[in-house]
Amino acid sequence: MDIETRKELLDQRVNNAASRKGRRASEIRLLAVSKTRSDTTIRSLAALGQQAFGENYLQEAVEKIKQLADLELEWHFIGQIQRNKTAAVAENFDWVQSIDRLVIAERLSAQRPENMAELNICIQVRMSEEIGKGGVSKKELFPLARAIDTLPGVVLRGLMTIPENTTDRDKQRMAFREMHGLYQKLKAQYNTIDTLSMGMTGDFELAIEEGSTMIRVGTALFGPRA
Ligand SMILES: *Cc1c(COP(=O)(O)O)cnc(C)c1O
Repeated sequence: MDIETRKELLDQRVNNAASRKGRRASEIRLLAVSKTRSDTTIRSLAALGQQAFGENYLQEAVEKIKQLADLELEWHFIGQIQRNKTAAVAENFDWVQSIDRLVIAERLSAQRPENMAELNICIQVRMSEEIGKGGVSKKELFPLARAIDTLPGVVLRGLMTIPENTTDRDKQRMAFREMHGLYQKLKAQYNTIDTLSMGMTGDFELAIEEGSTMIRVGTALFGPRA
């Protein structure tokens, strides 16, 4: 299947999921997760009008961002950030969705070049006790948001989550619903909040039904990763 067909099928599924809940598809942004994909592949998706791309691995991402600088793309960092790598993130990306420690946000704030727009930040929240995926607990979320809100050079836009790897749809739905509750609570406190990043290839329809405003999709757009 070519990328144009995949994109059309994905758009259709997004539309259907949104309309089941009386939402408009335009309320849900698509982040194309392009880790491991070539510049050429990214170009062909960009030619179809896709603007936002997500990357997990810093070195791979920085090379692509340079190669594709002639296009007006929006780059989101969605991988784990090492403390000694924050400068490259601050200098190259438009968004960072994987913030789960204040020290990282502080470094990004200090290192964001003055001639660039504010760096958009999402706090990554861990919905289960599953280890190794990163993210703050529900309890840590609000103190971290308060601290980030005071930092110059960065702007808090919302929350991101990677759900537990499970085939239990009810459990997934409840986790998404709980995330949406946290998002609404945060949105009531800060007027910069407009992004709830949840849903990937395996679960984006459920995430949309539960209020996601940004889905991060790799496989359904580009095919299986090698
Ligand atoms: C790889 C990745 C995705 C996309 O996963 P697919 O299942 O290929 O859609 C989304 N979010 C994060 C954080 C990822 O690492």
